[in-house]
Amino acid sequence: MKESIVDSLALTLGKLPGIGKKTALRLAFALVDQRELASALALVLAETVANVKECSFCRNLTSDNVCETCLDTARQNTICVVHTPADQRSMEDTGLYRGFYFVLHGSLAPLDGIGPTVLGIPRLIERAITIGATEVILALDSTTEGEATCAYIANQLEAQNIKVTQLARGLPPGALVEFADSLTLSQALKGRRGY
Ligand SMILES: [Zn+2]
Repeated sequence: MKESIVDSLALTLGKLPGIGKKTALRLAFALVDQRELASALALVLAETVANVKECSFCRNLTSDNVCETCLDTARQNTICVVHTPADQRSMEDTGLYRGFYFVLHGSLAPLDGIGPTVLGIPRLIERAITIGATEVILALDSTTEGEATCAYIANQLEAQNIKVTQLARGLPPGALVEFADSLTLSQALKGRRGY
């Protein structure tokens, strides 16, 4: 009986990103052994599920209708567009960017029914116009889906005469040309600069 509970717990934990089968099982056994920790975790999880919602401006996760970042009047009139709340955190943690954000929660995937509206792109355009954005930075994944999403958003924003920029692409430090895939290499070539 105990084993089947552990197995189903491990199966659920294994759905989390970066958690393999072995780790999931180790965590499941740890939680079953440490009842207090498991109870505390259950409480925090229930609270999270009950209270987390999307900010009505930037779609980042927050417990209020509008997140702290969007309420920060000291921020510059720029918007950094990212795929996920984790990406937003990474950009903020660089300490180099002091503007607003917009979280898409995915990439365009028309075959899976994920169109511009699902990603909130019309809201992004509206927000950029409302705050009079001087620049929209596309900080999206350098994948085929990410590139397609960038192209679509850039098109929409340029139609409104809003400046659009994209993160630099290309070879990461220490990369060997021989082993770079063709997408990375073609982006590195397009983004080449004076020596
Ligand atoms: Zn917000």
